[in-house]
Amino acid sequence: MQLKTLVINGFKSFADKTQIDFVPGLTGIVGPNGSGKSNITEAIRWSLGEQSAKSLRGEKMGDVIFAGTASRPPLNRAEVVMTFDNRDGYLANQPAEVSVTRRLYRDGESDFLINNQAVRLKDIVDLFMDSGLGKESFSFISQGRVEAIFNSKPEERRGILEEAAGVLKYKQQKIKADKELQTTTDNLDRVNDIIQELH
Ligand code: ATP
Repeated sequence: MQLKTLVINGFKSFADKTQIDFVPGLTGIVGPNGSGKSNITEAIRWSLGEQSAKSLRGEKMGDVIFAGTASRPPLNRAEVVMTFDNRDGYLANQPAEVSVTRRLYRDGESDFLINNQAVRLKDIVDLFMDSGLGKESFSFISQGRVEAIFNSKPEERRGILEEAAGVLKYKQQKIKADKELQTTTDNLDRVNDIIQELH
């Protein structure tokens, strides 16, 4: 699966509709300080379902909407659309091309769409959860994160490596399965007790 296009419209410094086409291989984004490079990665994270305004360097979610400049009034809506090439079926049960849209209006209203169909935020989060692209995944390493990884304790670093290797997901599934097994064993014990009492 490959990210094909990113369309940013009214998000942070992108007052005008801006389309970025990603071609196979490595894409570098260069520009002077404050030109909006980080805003691009934040637009990607936001459309994948980021819910923390702080992690988008804002105080409230409305801060992602273009706030205006000396020469330009603020906008009322931020929109980000990402289109993925899914011909390899990486996103299960999805067509060859998958688009994900997130919109936020100043009055707090939001829209979430998958392939132009209205969905819930949860549906977008779920779509990417197992893809290694989720907002908590290590697909995004922000400034300062590398240092934090180097300075972390060995156990924390192990956790980070396990998550990057995709092991964490299975560990969590194992914990869930163990709990279900325990509940089932308890239920069985209770049934056996009742059978004993009936004899
Ligand atoms: P650096 O190289 O210094 O890390 P950068 O290219 O990553 O910079 P960003 O941090 O992405 O730049 O962009 C910061 C710019 O975005 C600032 O000029 C800031 O005023 C602008 N900006 C952030 N939020 C908004 C908003 N809601 N409306 C308008 N402009 C915004």
